Amino acid sequence: MTADRIAIVTGSARGLGLAAAVALAKRGTRIVITYRGEPSRADGALDAVAVAGSEAIALQLDVADVDSIQQFAHALPAALEARWGKREVDVLVNNAGVGRWGAVGEIAPDDLDALLDINVKGTILLTQAVVPHLVDGGSIISISSMLTRRVTVGSAAYAASKAAIETFALGLALELGPRRIRVNTIAPGPTATDFNGGAMRDDDGMRDFLAANTAMGRVGEPEDIGEAIATLATDGAAWITAQRIEASGGALI
Ligand code: NAD
Repeated sequence: MTADRIAIVTGSARGLGLAAAVALAKRGTRIVITYRGEPSRADGALDAVAVAGSEAIALQLDVADVDSIQQFAHALPAALEARWGKREVDVLVNNAGVGRWGAVGEIAPDDLDALLDINVKGTILLTQAVVPHLVDGGSIISISSMLTRRVTVGSAAYAASKAAIETFALGLALELGPRRIRVNTIAPGPTATDFNGGAMRDDDGMRDFLAANTAMGRVGEPEDIGEAIATLATDGAAWITAQRIEASGGALI
């Protein structure tokens, strides 16, 4: 269903981005991995996509850096052509993001800058740069958060940055509908990655609390979210656009 397609997954050297790349690769989709820093940071993801039965290339991208976004968009068509003889992609997964925490009154300006520069501005500017290289009938999936539905103390600024992505997706769905491009957000619940200092993976007290307050009785694993993202990219979801879809196992309902 998604064989021979190409998907860009931002921030896919680890965590949910890596899980999304692997889940898409299992369905035959070829992957553009993005990494920051040394190219070797993408080695593990390149291997994981190969083990999943597909192919990948890796390009450097810092979504907080406008020049980096422009360089990425400039390099993309030639890199696709060189590897796969195509100059367009079918799917964009806006996964790169950061968490910064603080109760109202304690939100640090630097943390707010990071949330806005990476989560909001990075998503909008990268999407804008990639849309000209996206096929008609393609799909854009941006990663939001459960916290836009059920905010917790200290997460207001982070949740607001993700709410911005959800609203952006609505407008984008409207503008790209004539090209049959679908635009949706996946809102993960707490998931065991490096995110939030690895707390959802390593802090037993937090894991017990979250498991007790989740319908499915456990914390999410990266594969749970990767599969949801890959499923939303299939033709079975061809009539789904402008939606926020939560993948949280029923957390904090
Ligand atoms: P993570 O910290 O393991 O991964 C974040 C990824 O984003 C990394 O690959 C990192 O390199 C990349 N990234 C960060 N800043 C970047 C930048 N400026 N340019 C390019 N890439 C950048 O965490 P994760 O859990 O895998 O998070 C992935 C996404 O899921 C994020 O958008 C996060 O907000 C969201 N999310 C995570 C959870 C969770 O509980 N893990 C829940 C809801 C939403």
